[in-house]
Amino acid sequence: MKLKYDVVIVGSGIAGPIVARNVAKEGFKVLMIDKKAEIGTPKRCGEGISIGAFKKYDIPYDKRFINREIYGAAIYSPSGYKLEVKHNHVAGVILERKIFDKMLAYYAAKAGADIMAKTEAIGLIREDGKIKGIKARHEGNSLEIYADVIVAADGIESRVARWAGINSFLPPHELDSAYEYEMIIENIPDPDLIHLYFGNEIAPRGYVWVFPKDEDRANVGVGIAGDNPRTAKYYLDKWIKENNIKGVKILEVNVGGVPVGGFLRELVKDNVVVVGDAARQVNPIHGGGMAEAMEAGTIASRYITKALEDENLELLKGYTEEWWSKDGARLMRVLKIRKISEKLSDDELDAAVQALSGADAESLISGDYKKVFKALIKNPKVLLKPKLLKLLTEAI
Ligand SMILES: Cc1cc2nc3c(=O)[nH]c(=O)nc-3n(C[C@H](O)[C@H](O)[C@H](O)COP(=O)(O)OP(=O)(O)OC[C@H]3O[C@@H](n4cnc5c(N)ncnc54)[C@H](O)[C@@H]3O)c2cc1C
Repeated sequence: MKLKYDVVIVGSGIAGPIVARNVAKEGFKVLMIDKKAEIGTPKRCGEGISIGAFKKYDIPYDKRFINREIYGAAIYSPSGYKLEVKHNHVAGVILERKIFDKMLAYYAAKAGADIMAKTEAIGLIREDGKIKGIKARHEGNSLEIYADVIVAADGIESRVARWAGINSFLPPHELDSAYEYEMIIENIPDPDLIHLYFGNEIAPRGYVWVFPKDEDRANVGVGIAGDNPRTAKYYLDKWIKENNIKGVKILEVNVGGVPVGGFLRELVKDNVVVVGDAARQVNPIHGGGMAEAMEAGTIASRYITKALEDENLELLKGYTEEWWSKDGARLMRVLKIRKISEKLSDDELDAAVQALSGADAESLISGDYKKVFKALIKNPKVLLKPKLLKLLTEAI
């Protein structure tokens, strides 16, 4: 079967539906496909997002996917020193992503986009040397979806960008391995906060997270450097055992890769546009990618709409330029700081957590790393190695 659209989007996670909704809203013919039989399921996510994302990206604050409201965070050093910030207003939420992703697709459909679940992109249609669309498989049938613009929103395992000739190779060092249980946990220290545990023995280069979904149910996960000889599961099980976590009953297991660096240079090739995890647009310090996928999807939508309105696909390239000049530049600074902070010893992490204030924790959570590291450098309690101090001073 042959279909014809202005835009075909591969992937209905976070980035895909944002683009689908925004471009369909402008009156263009949009189709979004996903290989999942049920959009949103299975999920691979801790499901934490800051409250600001809803307003910024025009997403309804719908109780159907707000699992729990969160008022702040507690950060724990290797020896157990704690840094806490708790507000009297909601700072973030733990989503139910299986519903959230489906609802994002629903909003895109309400804006006019067509959606096809259980439809897998298997290649590109090329004619006379030009990319003309996507070949897909749906319920055992072959589909040819012709479109002026093709959006690769197909996540960490993206193949669409590679098919288009974009170098999307991700070295293992730029990837974090994540392992997470959604589980019953009786002793959540404070279920109104997210809890983050740092330490070189706890999670090399990463952290253990406890994101409460209930008083006694949470996403408990770990992210570690992808080239670590041990598995993320090893570190998570060790943490659960060593911390005497009570009443563990595992409801769900999530395993996944998180791109933490190596952002794609080339976000557009001919008429193919790459967004979200497919473009490695993830915060390299905390590994959160939902807000970044929304941001990239929002920028890409503007250029896709303009290119279609002006019938000039060259305009798509503006997305690469705009993303790199703002978000890319910001994330490159974050990456630089991450590369330095991963060299901190457990003693230095202990000293840092002891030295920082609740306000610093707030800056840390909101991504203002510069402020935090400035405070650290100035603090006489934190004696960093001279080389580390020099690198940090240069980075900020
Ligand atoms: C364990 C774990 C915990 C995480 N926790 C958080 C967190 O708490 N907060 C946060 O902000 N981020 C978190 N992230 C990262 C976040 O999940 C991603 O950054 C985010 O989902 C990226 O959105 P996306 O739309 O780019 O890709 P995805 O959400 O991965 O969506 C891609 C979609 O493309 C579809 N697809 C792929 N290939 C094809 C194909 N060939 N044909 C059709 N469909 C296809 C997939 O089925 C999928 O639905 C976590 C990641 C992991 C692995």
